[in-house]
Order: sequence, then C-alpha cells, then structure tokens
Amino acid sequence: MKITFLGSGGGRFSAISQRRMTGGFRIDNLGGKNYHIDPGPGALIRTYQFGFNPRNLSGVFVSHSHTDHYNDAEILIEAMTRGMTKKMGTIVGSTSVLEGYDKWGPCISSYHQSNSDVVVLKPDEVSNVDKIKVKGTRTEHGDPAGVGFQIDYKGFKVSYTSDTGYFDGLAKDHEGADILIASVLRPGNKSIPGHMCSTDFVKLIEEVKPQVAVMTHLGLKMISNNPVTEAKKISKRTGVKVIAAFDGLSFNVNYNNPKRFRLISLKDVDSVVHSTSHKMFKNERRNAYQQSFKNHEFDELSILKKNLD
Ligand SMILES: [Zn+2]
Repeated sequence: MKITFLGSGGGRFSAISQRRMTGGFRIDNLGGKNYHIDPGPGALIRTYQFGFNPRNLSGVFVSHSHTDHYNDAEILIEAMTRGMTKKMGTIVGSTSVLEGYDKWGPCISSYHQSNSDVVVLKPDEVSNVDKIKVKGTRTEHGDPAGVGFQIDYKGFKVSYTSDTGYFDGLAKDHEGADILIASVLRPGNKSIPGHMCSTDFVKLIEEVKPQVAVMTHLGLKMISNNPVTEAKKISKRTGVKVIAAFDGLSFNVNYNNPKRFRLISLKDVDSVVHSTSHKMFKNERRNAYQQSFKNHEFDELSILKKNLD
C-alpha cells in the first residue's frame, strides 16, 4: 500500500489561496485497488502532476460537504467510469455528500452516482468495499452529517478523522488505527470550533496510540508556523512518529512494520500532455493524440464512428 498526499492544505483560505494544494490523498495498491479520498480543488490536476492516473481508481471517498473536500469528486468519477460510459467503481460518502442533509449537499449529482456502486456511510456504520471494510467515524464539524473513515484491510487499519473538533469518544472511533491521518488546522492550543489544533492532536494520539500519525489539512496559521517543527514537538510529547504532510508526500506502508518507511517527495512529472510549455513538447504533443485514441477518449472520432454505423 502506498499513501500519497496530493495536497496538505485545508480550510477555506488555505484552499482559496492555494498556499498549499488541496487535492486530498490517494491510497494505492490497497488489496490491488486504488482510492482517492477527499478530492478538493485541484485533485485532478495534482493527480497528473505527481504522475498518477485518475482512470485507475476503484473508489472515490468524500467525507463531508465542504468544497475543500468534494470539489473534484465528479470529474474523478468521470475518469473512473471512462467518461460515464462504463459501470465501474464505488463512491463512498456521507449522507450530506450523496443525498443532501439540511442545507448541506448533495455534492455529487445523481447522474454522477448512476454508474458506480454507492455507499452512504453514517457514523458507526461499516460497509464492505472490494477487499476492505470501511467504518464511518463521528465528527463534530460544520456539516452535521460528515464522517471520517477507518479503512480496515485484513486487520491493518488506516484511520482518517476528516475535519472534526476533538471530543470525548473521538479516540474510540479510531481505536486500533495503525496509521492515523488527522486534519489539524492550527498549531499550539489555538483550536477553533469544529477543528483540531496540535494540543487536541496530542490527546488523540495518546489515546489511539497509532504506529504512525500524519497531520494534514493544514490551515494558514499552521503553514506559517513551520508544521515540521510542530510535528517534531508532538512526536516528542507522545513518543509516536508524527509526520507533517506536504504536497507530494508519498510513502509505502510495510504492513508488518509500519514505522519503517521512507518519505518520498514527488516531483512534477515531465508530462507531454500537461506541460504548459508549448515549445518543449511540440512533437510529443502531436503524438499525445495517440494516447487519446488508446483511451477511447476522442469525442469527435466516436461521434463520427456513430454516424457511419
Ligand atoms: Zn470541513
């Protein structure tokens, strides 16, 4: 299994300013499948930028109805379903994301939900998706129907708090997590309602005792405050390895010893199709159409073919 952060920013101002990217994260090769979790603004672009392919997704997970978590979900679902031409993949989301709840959502249209299996996940519910079990975890956040996810693959657990304030019982929902990924918006003890700060994260780590903890969804105050130093402080206090996510952070997970890994910093790929330099890839760009043929993604051609049939 490989976990990759296509963004480590969060909160509306971090997202609007793109001081940090907001593409969410991917879990690749989990029982042979790939999943994208909380694809915020730019998720599709970051997928290509870091050398991934959105077509090889088996699932798109969206935890709640905030733009920095759901923005690119529909376009990724289109990639997963070959432009809505095939029945493929699973969409997992909160009630608000998939059905709408009060003023929240729905964030994915019924059209986009029509070609995949759809799992509406409520807190404390468990669903099977491919070879994994997904449990909805409770949150205390703006969207009252939002959830976090605990993903269980043969007993190995990756827990994601999504956006939530700290509350009694949060640790219980993430019990047994080998890897704990949390939205930690602010440094120190300056928490705001519905979000955790470093002090809350310390409490959560002490209770859950994961092998590795990752803080992501970093707000502007956290970004300006050197998140790496903040993570080191948390690590020292808890005795648990804590990583501050950065854009393009990737690591392979060793199931037997999750503490042993190497952090990889992904660089922008030299992409024939996605570079903005017209000079650089002039010839290759021409050939890039071949790639479109290969993926059956040449609209004009298929329309022409239909007319000929
Ligand atoms: Zn939120």
